[in-house]
Amino acid sequence: MGLIHKIPSLPNAIANGSHPCLVLNADYQPLSYYPLSLWSWQDAVKAVFLDRVSVIGQYEQKVRSANFAMPIPSVVALKEFVPQNRSPAFTRFNLFLRDGFACVYCGSGKELTFDHVIPRRLGGDTSWENIVAACSSCNLKKGGRSPHTADMAMARQPTQPSVYELQAQGRRFPPGHLHDSWLDFLYWDVELET
Ligand SMILES: [Zn+2]
Repeated sequence: MGLIHKIPSLPNAIANGSHPCLVLNADYQPLSYYPLSLWSWQDAVKAVFLDRVSVIGQYEQKVRSANFAMPIPSVVALKEFVPQNRSPAFTRFNLFLRDGFACVYCGSGKELTFDHVIPRRLGGDTSWENIVAACSSCNLKKGGRSPHTADMAMARQPTQPSVYELQAQGRRFPPGHLHDSWLDFLYWDVELET
């Protein structure tokens, strides 16, 4: 953060956590969708100074010091391509996203939790293939049994989703508070669908 410290703070300093910047790879795809690849404005400004990124979009607000003023970047693209790990992260959010924020047994979206399809005590592991979103009442009803033993049908068999499947799900459950300048990079077909 050496460079950033040379930028004096302002009377109306820009708050930490405000003005996040969407980070695109050199191919203009977001580095990550879930979670969305965002930098703090400080990191974005620093990367501009280090010449590591191109500025694609800007906020109206500027950072100023005695000898320069610069609009805060809202979208930047890396100048060097970072090879992507194309397997989505095994996270709670991604798992809920795969299952559409609905219980795989009854379809309810209330009090969602996670269920080991094959219970741990029967050798079930914690993986994309063995964890599903389940409401707490189905979870309770199923107890430590397999779906077969509990006579509870699943809407679909759990599998590891591809990035593209999660992206498609993500369009149904868009993250809140998207800056307008990000939309073009996130959902290229958003206008075609509406
Ligand atoms: Zn349920």
